[in-house]
Parts: sequence; C-alpha cells; structure tokens
Amino acid sequence: MPELPEVEVTRLSFADRIAGAEILSAAMGKPLRWALGCDPDDLVGQRVHDVRRRGKYLLLDLDRGLLLIHLGMSGSLSFTSQAAAPGVHDHFDLATSRGVLRLNDPRRFGAVVHAADEAAPAAVKLLGRLGMEPLGDAFDLAAFQAGLRARQAPIKQVLLAGDVVVGVGNIYASEALFLAGIRPTVRAASLSRPRVARLHAAVREVLAKAVLKGGSTLRDFSNAQGQTGYFQLEAMVYDRQGEPCRVCATPIQWMRQGQRSTYFCPQCQKR
Ligand SMILES: [Zn+2]
Repeated sequence: MPELPEVEVTRLSFADRIAGAEILSAAMGKPLRWALGCDPDDLVGQRVHDVRRRGKYLLLDLDRGLLLIHLGMSGSLSFTSQAAAPGVHDHFDLATSRGVLRLNDPRRFGAVVHAADEAAPAAVKLLGRLGMEPLGDAFDLAAFQAGLRARQAPIKQVLLAGDVVVGVGNIYASEALFLAGIRPTVRAASLSRPRVARLHAAVREVLAKAVLKGGSTLRDFSNAQGQTGYFQLEAMVYDRQGEPCRVCATPIQWMRQGQRSTYFCPQCQKR
C-alpha cells in the first residue's frame, strides 16, 4: 500500500512538470472508490497550478476548485508526455498540454474527487479529520504532546489512527518507536515529555529518510513510464521477527496489535 513517503515522492515526480499545464481532456475508466463529483468535461480548459499533499491525498489546484487523488491500496500515478492507450487497470487519465497524468489502480480503492474548494463537503469528508503533517513545520512538538496526552490507547495504535499525526503507517510507526526506545504497547497518555520529544524526532526522521530514499529510487529508476515504484527502508525491526536486533542482538519480537503486526526489540524498547 502506498504510504505517505511514496505519495510525497509521487508528488515530487510530476509537480514541477505539470504546473501551468492546460487540461485538454479528462477520462474515467471503471468506477473508483468514490465518484469524481463533476462532469470530466468541466475540467477541460482549466489550468493545473500547484500539486500539494495532505496526508496521503494529492491536491491538484485548478482554475476552479481542486482534484483530490488517493492511491488507495494499489494505485500509482504516472505523468508522461506520450501515453499509450489506457490499459485494463488505468482508470483515470488527465491529458494536459504538458503530458498525461494517469492513475493505474488494479484494486480500485483509489479515487479522484473534484471539490469546489477545501471547505466544500467533498473535500472536508476526506481531509477534515486528518492530524498534523509529520513533514515540515506544521508538526509541532507541543501539539503532538497535547494530542498524545488525551489518548489512553497504546501509542502505536494512536500513531496509526492518523488523527494526531497523519501518514505514520505500520512500517514507519514500528521503526519510529524503535528509534525512540518506546514499547509499542505503552499508553500514549503515559509518555513523559522527553520520550514524546524523542518520538517526535523519530517520526520525522523515518519519514524524511523514506522520502529521500524514494527520491533516489526515482532518480535511479526513472523510466519512460515515470513510475516511482515502491521502496522500503532498511528496517530496524519491521518484518524482522526472530532476527537479531541491529543494536543489541536480542531477537526481535512480533505481536498482534489491533489486527496489525507489531515488531519491537524487548531490550531496546523496555517500556
Ligand atoms: Zn535491541
């Protein structure tokens, strides 16, 4: 599943190139998770301005309103000057004066939604409950502390819930908690201020590293399709059950937490 770093790398891969382009046509394939919410022909003639990201949504600012794009479970975007005829899994094509933005999504949990502005119900429904952005200045330590202090659930599940901070998926939550030396089962509200500060720094670090790694993957593998592919950090704990901790050599433990796999080092993450 595309996580926040993949979505950010996808954004970086075409934002500069599409900015200022005029929309020549828009075409939908099979139905996606949510309907577009406007006649595709209404987009024709508008220009694409900025491409922003909020959580795992890409926001394409147009002359009138914006398009919100989500990659769902299996989606990927490409932006190419010469696009072949849409394949069986291509479900949205935005042809512009600079190239074709195409959503390929075999499982069709992704979506492209038009909203008149960010305050419109269609946008609020998708963006309204998102927590702070972990990358950039919006991720405020005091606000993070306040958010965690209000939650009695285990810290890992609070990170995954996305209403305190967005985009910390299962891999990144496990890795950040390891870096911060925090046991994933600890109640969020019980974390001391220094430990929250370490976690704050760790979340930023793992996500920023993944974006950097994705950026280099993109440079190394940027092909005619413009596909970014997926990439993964050299994990410290994630998916390493039974393998020695890279810091202390204690076997990494696995547990199930709210339907998700959790990995941790019982020595480095004592409490
Ligand atoms: Zn360890």
